[in-house]
Amino acid sequence: MRRIRKAKIVATLGPSSSDARTIRALVEAGADVFRLNFSHGNHDDHRARLDVIRNLERELEHPIGVLMDLQGPKLRVGELAGGEATLAPGARFRLDLDPAPGGADRAPLPHPEIFEALQTDAEILLDDGKLRLRVAKLGRDFAETEVVTGGILKNHKGVNLPGVVMNISPLTEKDRRDLQFGLDLGVDWVAMSFVQRPEDIAEGRRLIAGRAAIMAKIEKPAALNHLTELVESADGFMVARGDLGVELAPEDVPGRQKEIIRLCRLAGKPVVVATQMLESMISAPAPTRAEASDVATAVYDGADAVMLSAESAAGDYPVEAVQMMDRIIARTENDRHYAPIIQALHPEPEKTAPDAISAAAAQVADTISAAAIVSYTTSGSTALRAARERPVVPILVLTSKLATARQMALLWGAHSVHTADVRDFQEMVGKACRLAAKEKLADSGDRLVITAGVPFGTPGATNVLRIAWVD
Ligand code: PEP
Repeated sequence: MRRIRKAKIVATLGPSSSDARTIRALVEAGADVFRLNFSHGNHDDHRARLDVIRNLERELEHPIGVLMDLQGPKLRVGELAGGEATLAPGARFRLDLDPAPGGADRAPLPHPEIFEALQTDAEILLDDGKLRLRVAKLGRDFAETEVVTGGILKNHKGVNLPGVVMNISPLTEKDRRDLQFGLDLGVDWVAMSFVQRPEDIAEGRRLIAGRAAIMAKIEKPAALNHLTELVESADGFMVARGDLGVELAPEDVPGRQKEIIRLCRLAGKPVVVATQMLESMISAPAPTRAEASDVATAVYDGADAVMLSAESAAGDYPVEAVQMMDRIIARTENDRHYAPIIQALHPEPEKTAPDAISAAAAQVADTISAAAIVSYTTSGSTALRAARERPVVPILVLTSKLATARQMALLWGAHSVHTADVRDFQEMVGKACRLAAKEKLADSGDRLVITAGVPFGTPGATNVLRIAWVD
């Protein structure tokens, strides 16, 4: 299961990719982490997918990450008589709490907190921004709006309020039920949708209580205003360009994407670039040139992973989409411009022992042309610091915690192996060499740069760097 690339691939599972044969083909094509999207499907669907992944993982002896993506407080209009209505530009349109089906002049909007947060002149976007309204008059339970961009509005379409900070929990009742279910199943990452502030992550952390790592989806402009604190509080990030691209002007998305990746790299936290990466492959066997370029841009920026949504979940070419992503990443990482671009944003090590060892390991590995850096880690934190260096060679992550091995499947350059803790130096070197050879990261005669914490098995105590020869 050796990958020849550093950036990882997250593939969303769905109706096109739920049988064991397809999931296996996705892993063989390059999927490192699977996303279970709780905006779609029921618990039985997700349990069946997770069972397939775990069986495959045992068979391949290769940790696979599972990311559960909570729906979050997605705002939607209610029902319309006949299922849809046509909104004319310039017309008045009322949104209110009355559950009676709407029409061309009003619709139910069953979210009282929206009316609390809105202000006159605010913009309301419907159906991914296809329709636009401007608030003319507000009451406690209604908003009178003017239709700026008209069109057909259908039942339950999404509502976005750019720039409005809402006083809502990031976890709905459905999210809380889904979360309990996902944690009992044993997912490795939980993605929280529509987070706005660090307190949202704190709420998730209380409920998750260490049973999974937390990924904050950055899809609200409000989150961009708290980016530095959010990056401190969550374990990983997703540039969720679907919703973010609705709430921001399209021309603002690339710069924000770069900013988020940069902050995550600085903090040493994994970041995923998501949505519409190979969108045309939902129905075509090849992407557009612009899509190939989009994937490559995320890789040049140093993102840990790129993600497929509908392409792998509901498209006609799920396996081909992963193969294509794999090829674009590999080609980009082999481009002669790649290393200088990646290194140009190289963050300084923090003044800690693990960072000193990680920076030295990357430099030593480069100087002696080692085959790999071997990182003994319990919580994964040493592997995160090693990846922060964006070393030239792969990072073999050896951990006695299966959850860590799976979580690190998302990490740039990491190749995880679940193995028992070592007790002494001889065992540390012997196991590193044996596993590097077994995992096809090193051959006889190659050198490895090994980092570990002594006393062995103490989390966060990385303080040793050792060069070893593979027999
Ligand atoms: C997104 O908005 O880009 C995203 C990944 O979230 P979702 O697919 O859940 O809307």
